[in-house]
Amino acid sequence: MLRGQSLRIGRLFGIDILIDWTWLIIFALITYSLGASLGVFQPEWDPELRWAIAVISSLLFFASVLAHELAHSLMSQAHGTPVDSITLFLFGGVAKIREEPDSARSEFLMAIAGPAMSILIGVVLLVFAGALGRPLAAVSDPADVISQLSATQVVALWVGSINIVLGLFNMLPGFPLDGGRVLRSILWAITDDLRGSTRWATRIGQGLGWLMMAGGVSMVFGVTIPFFGTGLVGGLWLAFIGWYLNNASAQSYQQVVVQDILKGIRVERIMRKDPPTASAWESVETLVYDRIMGTDDHSFPVFDHDELAGMVTLSDVRATPREQWPITKVRDIMTPYGDCTVTASHEDAAQAMSKLATCDVRELPVIDDGVLIGVLRRRDLIQWLRLHGETAGGGSGSGSV
Ligand SMILES: [Zn+2]
Repeated sequence: MLRGQSLRIGRLFGIDILIDWTWLIIFALITYSLGASLGVFQPEWDPELRWAIAVISSLLFFASVLAHELAHSLMSQAHGTPVDSITLFLFGGVAKIREEPDSARSEFLMAIAGPAMSILIGVVLLVFAGALGRPLAAVSDPADVISQLSATQVVALWVGSINIVLGLFNMLPGFPLDGGRVLRSILWAITDDLRGSTRWATRIGQGLGWLMMAGGVSMVFGVTIPFFGTGLVGGLWLAFIGWYLNNASAQSYQQVVVQDILKGIRVERIMRKDPPTASAWESVETLVYDRIMGTDDHSFPVFDHDELAGMVTLSDVRATPREQWPITKVRDIMTPYGDCTVTASHEDAAQAMSKLATCDVRELPVIDDGVLIGVLRRRDLIQWLRLHGETAGGGSGSGSV
């Protein structure tokens, strides 16, 4: 969903700030629609002024979404959970938080911080716009009110109201929206059952997603929905957000189930002992015909004499042209040990699962005191989950939208 397409624009409070290319779509859309509607309400303004206002407002909207995510992130860091990055994308922002909050209280505070920040910014800007205002009481027609606004007032009013909308929308009680996290933390505090609380909050999230999709499709067919209006673009947009929320809810629940099942299970219970290995000095051809053929393994620890030298995978082999196989050594295509992500026999399986997903690898070498004692394979983890839980899936980390 958010891989590889992001541009790093800077670093704040030790958190990388990234922009996904999809965010440019939103930027262009907001700037265009704002510039076009200013043309209707303020026809006497210069086009340069109207477009400057539109661009400035979009940039301030961008800063507002960033402030919302920073509020979540700083609260999370204050509770001891590090945040790697904040990415701005099509549907707003997402903070990559390394693990789920460990208590209902810290989840509540972390979740509420974002919407609180948005509403605070919104109120401050609206009050500011009001303070700048000329006396409006004398004007009776609302259209006249709009046409008498100054440029600064237009920006403050627009960015202020969009922040209020952002704050309120995020407080909808469906997980993984902030409101859904707030709901989950309250249920969690009452029942002391994280999985059960997550189930309820994600069900509401999925329900809200279905409602938005239904509402969006109705809008496409000309039905007017209060607050959202009607029409093709608005309808598709609402349906799209609903689809995203529906998906994200289902995935979040699976993640929590997976983490819950694997918590407290050590890697050594799931890992494969005595995995097949390869030699650094054998040719790729030997690797393929003597080791890969006839097994269902996808990666092999590589030894240089008695030392673990790295890992070689099927993808490494595929990336090597067929005619090079006899003359290429395994050591030339492997990932050197120093660059491999590894686990240890006493590590929590939930953590190892996160490593597999974050690094996008199928297997992790299990190393104790520099010695290879096994391999943890993704499919063995999934098998374990199938045997011990209701569902199986992948995923890692957690986000907040
Ligand atoms: Zn949020």
